[in-house]
Amino acid sequence: MYKPLQSKTALHKLKSNYLPYKYDLNIYRGCKHNCIYCFAQYSHKYLDSKDFFNDIYYKENIVEVLEKQLTSRNWKGEVINIGGVTDTYQPIEKKLELMPKILKLMIKYENPICICTKSDLILRDIELIKELSEKTVVNIASSIAFKEEKKRKKFEPYSPPTIKRFNMLERIKKETKAGTGILMMPIFPYITDDVESLEYIFKNAKETGIDFVLPAILNLKGDTKEKVFKFLKKEYPLLLPKYERMYKGAFVEKVYRDAFYIKIRNIKKKYNFQNKRVKYEPERQLSIFT
Ligand code: SF4
Repeated sequence: MYKPLQSKTALHKLKSNYLPYKYDLNIYRGCKHNCIYCFAQYSHKYLDSKDFFNDIYYKENIVEVLEKQLTSRNWKGEVINIGGVTDTYQPIEKKLELMPKILKLMIKYENPICICTKSDLILRDIELIKELSEKTVVNIASSIAFKEEKKRKKFEPYSPPTIKRFNMLERIKKETKAGTGILMMPIFPYITDDVESLEYIFKNAKETGIDFVLPAILNLKGDTKEKVFKFLKKEYPLLLPKYERMYKGAFVEKVYRDAFYIKIRNIKKKYNFQNKRVKYEPERQLSIFT
């Protein structure tokens, strides 16, 4: 089911201080990618639906309300994260074409953005991304955490294959001035954390000139824990007791976490991979690779 929504505002101010942006813009509520670990599912409880993966709402008037906010005297041109809750490039975006209109506004007002998407539908808008990246800071990332397709399909059944995501980032890197990155997450302990799988991602990132790779281990906030444990019980029953021991709360135990990041440090050293993050300096409208 697809259902239009009317929205009063387009930009949502975030409380977090550790993120490199302060505002979120979400066109869609609900997500067709169907990732079993999705922690955005909670957001549907504020709507009259319980089916996050099938009932997709879209903010029909998002372009009008966004332009109002971008032209408001209070708006300081800060970085906007597009799609912080739900992936912006839903399959229906192909038909609705809301993103090109939003990108045109960003070009008009030279507003810096970042986007994280699993979908290569973003390539439809590559010319707009190119134009915007010539005016201000643009960061495009994709979450990539699986080497094996068979495994990935179990965890993210309706999202594009890993190789398509690499190709998408590679094209954006080659054809635009946008920074590109991989959110290597969520890493599932004892399922996707073997050296070979992790190296595959860093090796490809290095070869395709990707600017940053940010790894993160699975976290199990709210009712995601119950959902993931149910999935493990079916697909990886032998691992379930281990997970129950490692996840007393929402985050993995320290011993595992410390060992994981040592492994990452060694892989980064092996591939001589260093993150270059594009930072935004508002006064100077500059992008700085750090
Ligand atoms: S792509 Fe993101 S929002 Fe969509 S189901 Fe997966 S984790 Fe959830």
